[in-house]
Amino acid sequence: MEERIRDAAFWTRLKADMKEAAYGLGIDDIGVASPEPFTELKGRLIRHRELGYESGFEAKDIDRRTDPSLLFDEPLSIIAISVGYPSKLHNPPKSEPGARRGILSRSSWGEDYHTVLRSRLARLEAWLRERVPELRAESMVDTGELSDRAVAERAGIGWSGKNSFIMNRKHGTWIYLAEMITNLPLEPDSPIEDSCGSCTKCIDACPTGALVGPGQLNAQRCVSFVTQTKEMVSDELMRKIGNRLYGCDTCQIVCPVNKGINVTRHPEFKADPEQVKPLLEPLLDISNREYKERYGSNSSSWRGKKPIQRNAVIALGNFREKGAVPALVKVLRDDPRPVLRGTAAWSLGRIGGEAALQALKDALGTEEDPEARDVIGRAAAAAAAAAEALEASEALEAQEAGQEPASPHS
Ligand code: SF4
Ligand code: SF4
Repeated sequence: MEERIRDAAFWTRLKADMKEAAYGLGIDDIGVASPEPFTELKGRLIRHRELGYESGFEAKDIDRRTDPSLLFDEPLSIIAISVGYPSKLHNPPKSEPGARRGILSRSSWGEDYHTVLRSRLARLEAWLRERVPELRAESMVDTGELSDRAVAERAGIGWSGKNSFIMNRKHGTWIYLAEMITNLPLEPDSPIEDSCGSCTKCIDACPTGALVGPGQLNAQRCVSFVTQTKEMVSDELMRKIGNRLYGCDTCQIVCPVNKGINVTRHPEFKADPEQVKPLLEPLLDISNREYKERYGSNSSSWRGKKPIQRNAVIALGNFREKGAVPALVKVLRDDPRPVLRGTAAWSLGRIGGEAALQALKDALGTEEDPEARDVIGRAAAAAAAAAEALEASEALEAQEAGQEPASPHS
């Protein structure tokens, strides 16, 4: 290795060969970043934490997240890779009254990308080791230890978009990122010179205002993170979730750079329409075994079935799907999880009607969990008010109909 370190031509050639080989290894973009600490990122992460914008899913140690030398002994380079994923669903099933469907975000279509990207990095590592047997490497896929986005940006994979994704003209934001810290003295690439310009479409389209500035995300308000939590969601955010079961793609869908981009060359990410746009009602009582069979190898399963079931309940409420009342009443009465019972109450309150109101009143008499009770109380009040308003407007309509002047021909 020592001799080779002095042989700059060897490393230049190796890097060029690696770039040439990348496509054949199943990698769409590859670049090299220097392993210097990410000082600017560190400042941003500290401010982010102070402002309460973290999701809670990130690694806690900001020093480790921004200094590769704390993760790897004497790093000399970081190789960043990206692998594209599809943005379009072939033959999507229809969501309609009586058969309402939810949607999983594109980043969870097909096989879990962590597994796929790890296999791509393993192939790359084997390719490198064949040429440099003394290779030392530490591969990372969304571990939260190092920022995949900061590494990719420095390695010239793409620029940091205002929607906080790394993007480039070839693949847009539809890319998974991963990296490998190495002891190879590869020449770093330069960040690409491109930007969003004056566009603000993603910021304008975000349903919750979670993009608080260009590239600055308040994860606490981001639907993508909220769909992954397991707790009760606020009334405002439940309305914004719509029919999203996992993740949110809005700030990518509206992005003009993404227009017409649909990477389909990786069979692992081919989506099963019934899996990624499933019927909502059957999810309410899906068994652990069935859930594992259907979603076990999908990246949405990392939090278990509870968030998806809770979001399915929310979606039925947002659809105001009257046909789902019996199934939601069953959740309200029988589900052992207070969050599910409370969320079912919220949905029933939103759908309204006699059966929903009666079930809410009954539940108020039996519910013991304070948080669920609170939601049930509010949902019952909302359903009662809606019923009263409906009754009043029907009475008024009837009265007005009765006061119509008689037709002179009758
Ligand atoms: S993922 Fe959805 S909620 Fe989050 S920033 Fe983008 S548009 Fe907003
Ligand atoms: S929508 Fe516009 S501002 Fe947002 S990431 Fe795309 S190009 Fe940039």
